[in-house]
Amino acid sequence: MKDIILLSVVIASIIFNNISSQVPYEDEKVLNSTNNDESKKVKRSDSEWRRMLSSAEYHILREKGTERAFTGEYDGHFENGMYLCAGCGNKIFDSETKYRSGCGWPAFYEALPESVEEHEDNSFGMRRIEITCSKCDGHLGHVFNDGPQPTGLRYCINSVSMDFKPDEEDE
Ligand code: FE
Repeated sequence: MKDIILLSVVIASIIFNNISSQVPYEDEKVLNSTNNDESKKVKRSDSEWRRMLSSAEYHILREKGTERAFTGEYDGHFENGMYLCAGCGNKIFDSETKYRSGCGWPAFYEALPESVEEHEDNSFGMRRIEITCSKCDGHLGHVFNDGPQPTGLRYCINSVSMDFKPDEEDE
C-alpha cells in the first residue's frame, strides 16, 4: 500500500513538472506569435456585427460578398495614408503600395506585416486565395500573382471592407 502511495506521488509530481515546465514555452509562444493567435482576435457575435456594421459592410466582411467592379469608394482613390479594416480598425495597407490595376477594385502589391491571413477559396468554380483581416477575420478580398514588382502580387480588395485614414491625421 505504501508503495502504491509512493508511486502515485512520483507519478503526480512527474505530471505536475511536465505541466509547469510547459508554462514558459507557452509564454514564449505568445511572445513570438503573429496576429493569427486566436486569443488576440476580435470576436463578436453575429448580432453584434449586424449592429455595428452597415448592411453593405456586413455582407462583404461577414458574408464574404463582393462589391460591384468599378463602384468602390477607393478604387480610384490615391491619397497618402493608411487603409484600415472597416470591421475592427486593424491597419492593413499603406497607400504607398496601392496601384492602378484596372481590375475594378482597389489593388495593392503588399499588405502590412501580419495584417492579413490567406485561405484557399474554391468557390464559384475558381481557385483563389481569399484574404481576411488577421484581427477580426473579416473578408477583405483575394490575392493574385499578377501584380507589379517588388512582390508580383495583386491584393484585390473591396472598398467597403476598408476605412481610409489620411497621413495628416497622424500625430
Ligand atoms: Fe478586421
